[in-house]
Amino acid sequence: MNSIPQKTYFFSENEEAFQAGPVDFREPVAHLVEIIFHKFKHLLPQNRDAHILLKPNCNNDLHPLLGNATDLRILKSVVNGLKERGYQHIVIADGPNIGTYRKQINVFSRLGIRSLCRHTGVRLVDLNQAPSVRVDLFTDTVAIPEILFESDFVISLPKFKTHAEAVVSFAMKNLIGCVCGVDKRKVHNDLPANIAALNKEIPVHLIIGDGLIVMEGNGPGDGQPFFAGMLLAGTDSFWLDGVAARLTGFDPHRIPAWQNASTMQRASEKQLASLMAIQPAFQLVPAPARGFWVRFLDHPGLAAIRDKTRFLHSQHRARTFLYRLGLLQDVYSQDNSRIDRLVFYQHRCDACQLCEAVCPLGSPPCSPSHDPSACLRCLSCWWICPHDAIAIQGKPGYILEHRNRFSQRLKRLRDQMLKSHTAWNN
Ligand code: SF4
Ligand code: SF4
Repeated sequence: MNSIPQKTYFFSENEEAFQAGPVDFREPVAHLVEIIFHKFKHLLPQNRDAHILLKPNCNNDLHPLLGNATDLRILKSVVNGLKERGYQHIVIADGPNIGTYRKQINVFSRLGIRSLCRHTGVRLVDLNQAPSVRVDLFTDTVAIPEILFESDFVISLPKFKTHAEAVVSFAMKNLIGCVCGVDKRKVHNDLPANIAALNKEIPVHLIIGDGLIVMEGNGPGDGQPFFAGMLLAGTDSFWLDGVAARLTGFDPHRIPAWQNASTMQRASEKQLASLMAIQPAFQLVPAPARGFWVRFLDHPGLAAIRDKTRFLHSQHRARTFLYRLGLLQDVYSQDNSRIDRLVFYQHRCDACQLCEAVCPLGSPPCSPSHDPSACLRCLSCWWICPHDAIAIQGKPGYILEHRNRFSQRLKRLRDQMLKSHTAWNN
């Protein structure tokens, strides 16, 4: 574990950001999480009866390997790390985006988070529907779940991705998932200022950011997964976003929410200079600029018309058509899947170890320790297998559509992961 690269970026006595990795794909994620717990152990509550809330990014139903949602391996390792330290009152909570919320798509089930909660004995809370209080943001008053204010310790677990509207999405933007249901739409009335306001209002005590498989290109819903192999941690979302932006080749000053928050943060010239001195570890492809029609159709002033015509444009065929025209990133299918069991075809397997690395339990179907009754049905092993040596028995449902969209992009991800061993060790 000691050979894992680690780096601390200091901005002042209290403001620092910590990088664990990059590591090659075989390194257990639990090692990275343990390093972070060790580094920030002074922050964890003294009282083992403390109520701890974990806020991952479950924005939509795209599998974590596609670069959108927080990796289940991180969530599981954080839960295990907390339990090993004696904490028992742990909750995983998020509010997926409005599109899935309106269509009553159960993102937690699709991402395997519901099974993970059952497996680890942790409570799951849907923040879209949790009891809430009204909170003033920059443009509007929105409903924020009470549980965020009542918890003793909040750990935010954002995922790094490029974003067509916000340039990048990481620690600061992760808090949009804390706004209840359709109130999320109000945040878009002035996205940069409202994101900055959310970060002032919602208490977050520790951030453990997912930089394992990030997203580049047309994020957050239609980008390209990229293997970065690292975690970033800290206590301040502003500085962590700045570091993440620098490491991935972005200028944080070009991220509207970050630029907005920099005024409130009163970042000094010296601090900003030390941030800008960080050299990129990767150069991610930014999201393409939103075209005229996307901005026009998304304009807050047209919200009432969109609502009245929703029965037309929310149809699956209409959304698929708009997706093909490049006017939408997400096409949601209500065709749920049913995974009865996973079948392993030994003759197709070349022992590449990819499935073992991505399985949150470390025991995919090709492993002698695989236990079908414990399997989370998260399908990480199925998604990553290059040779279809793992097959789904049951009804794949919406997953086939996702697979058709992302098959080429996954091929590139597998290649990156397999090469990571050489890349990180040179
Ligand atoms: S065996 Fe596959 S589906 Fe089951 S928990 Fe592991 S990765 Fe997920
Ligand atoms: S990912 Fe597929 S080919 Fe690789 S070890 Fe697993 S089952 Fe075998």
